[in-house]
Amino acid sequence: MPDLEADYVVVGAGSAGSVVAARLSEDPGCKVILLEAGTTQSSFLNDIPAMNLQFVAGPKTDWMYPGEPDPTSNGRAQTWHAGKMMGGGGGLNGLVYIRGLKRDYDDWAAAGCTGWGWDDVTPFFRQVENFEPGGQGSLGTSGPLSITTQDHPHILSEAFVAACAAVGLPTLADHNGGSREGAFIGLTNQKNGQRCSAAKAYLTPAKGRANLRIIRGAEAKSLGFEGLRARSVRLASGQVVRARREIIVSAGALQSPVLLLRSGIGPAEDLRALGIEVVADSPEVGANLQDHIAAGGRRFVNVPTFNSEANLVGGLKHLYKYLTARQGAFASPAVQAMGWARSREGLDGPDLQLSFQPFAGMNLATRPRKFMPEPCVSLGFTVARPFARGRVSLRDAGGRVAINFPLLGDERDMASVVGGLRLVDRIFAAEPLAGYVTPDEPYLGKSDEELAAFARQIVGLGIHTVGTCRMGGDDRSVTDTALRVRGVEGLRVIDASIMPRVPSANTNAASMMIGEKGAAAIRQAA
Ligand SMILES: Cc1cc2nc3c(=O)[nH]c(=O)nc-3n(C[C@H](O)[C@H](O)[C@H](O)COP(=O)(O)OP(=O)(O)OC[C@H]3O[C@@H](n4cnc5c(N)ncnc54)[C@H](O)[C@@H]3O)c2cc1C
Repeated sequence: MPDLEADYVVVGAGSAGSVVAARLSEDPGCKVILLEAGTTQSSFLNDIPAMNLQFVAGPKTDWMYPGEPDPTSNGRAQTWHAGKMMGGGGGLNGLVYIRGLKRDYDDWAAAGCTGWGWDDVTPFFRQVENFEPGGQGSLGTSGPLSITTQDHPHILSEAFVAACAAVGLPTLADHNGGSREGAFIGLTNQKNGQRCSAAKAYLTPAKGRANLRIIRGAEAKSLGFEGLRARSVRLASGQVVRARREIIVSAGALQSPVLLLRSGIGPAEDLRALGIEVVADSPEVGANLQDHIAAGGRRFVNVPTFNSEANLVGGLKHLYKYLTARQGAFASPAVQAMGWARSREGLDGPDLQLSFQPFAGMNLATRPRKFMPEPCVSLGFTVARPFARGRVSLRDAGGRVAINFPLLGDERDMASVVGGLRLVDRIFAAEPLAGYVTPDEPYLGKSDEELAAFARQIVGLGIHTVGTCRMGGDDRSVTDTALRVRGVEGLRVIDASIMPRVPSANTNAASMMIGEKGAAAIRQAA
């Protein structure tokens, strides 16, 4: 194939990159090429919400980066999941739609990201959103991404929300308005019971545009520069794709920094040690790695749950429900009910995000998927504002990656986990949930030390990876607040990697918001 050229070349058709490519190509006067390493795309079968279980940890659709052994969690190594398909993480994620808290974004602005406070980002969230039922004042109603309520959640998800009220967490009517503590049945980005990823919402309608070319199976290996100006993307196939105006890296928080490092943008000493020619000395590329720290508990219950119905009869029942009414297990987002809570006294806001699932006992690593036959539920939580910071770095010039992340290296995170475990027991023991669960209090009677030791055995990742190309107003930040990579020209990073701090919520909505805001910055500069 001859070399290709466009005004803008976008690397990565994930949650942010799909938005960027679609928005830029709205201008018929410019040509856009979108490069995606994955090959899988939207289809009726793929877009059944529960089908994401086929794609998570699937070799063709999940990058599954191996993490390094973590001494703070008993030497266990985590697998870092990341979508490798059209829609990226949004192509296989749990379909929970949630923005986060007002203070998350106000903290970004306070940290030097002028123009990224709650009031600044809200219009860009609204630009993404098409909240079909209407009536939750803060959500947009005319954007491309369909968002809907769960009209028939599992009875135990509703019992969870009521039990939260019983322990002092009010039921929130509009949890996307920047609120604080409380619990709620979550929203989901679906249309007619089908997954609505950024690829589906933004790219499907844009596919017919003569000025947009989408190339699947196109893995970017490095960027080429003329002086300090980014000019081209070299693919694994050897092909070169040239950009007349700008290159936009939207390869996600694990790959975007790697692409910069391989191209000579990163800590100069480290790059030289690997024999990579330095284009720009940028000490924080790959640093500031964040994810939510996840833990929780589960209980056996006295009513059927999705896992106990994962058999022939239950499967047919749920398939019927799905095909006739778009309800039941096949239509369910991964998490039905959620909440924000404080793990302990003396905090100035919630430090935990709660996630209730009407199933439990599934191991992502096993294939075919196996479920526990007994009915059970899980109440997970994540440390919503973690202090843990890690790093993505190169092992060698060929691009092999090392991911170091000390999950429980900060005592403030450990205190949140310990308090969170006790809160799990308190919520399970509160009515009306208590009436369904087999009584048990594994955490409440234990000392902090015992719970800390237990936490080291069980904590995992929330799969909300961000922060590795930190945006900021300071010289050390990787991008400025218009998401331009410092030290070079014609290059932006627009995806979850620019978040200076992970929001207190799942990160898909924020990634799409970043896509909208980044595309607006490019168009304004053009
Ligand atoms: C299993 C899972 C479940 C999740 N559940 C939820 C949820 O329910 N709700 C929620 O809000 N968030 C969820 N998240 C997080 C959310 O999906 C991500 O935060 C979001 O998708 C990040 O968007 P992004 O644009 O930064 O990167 P991504 O969406 O990951 O997009 C990056 C894209 O770039 C491509 N790419 C990478 N490297 C290259 C390369 N070298 N060349 C070409 N293309 C490349 C990738 O294949 C991918 O398509 C989940 C994530 C995962 C993995």
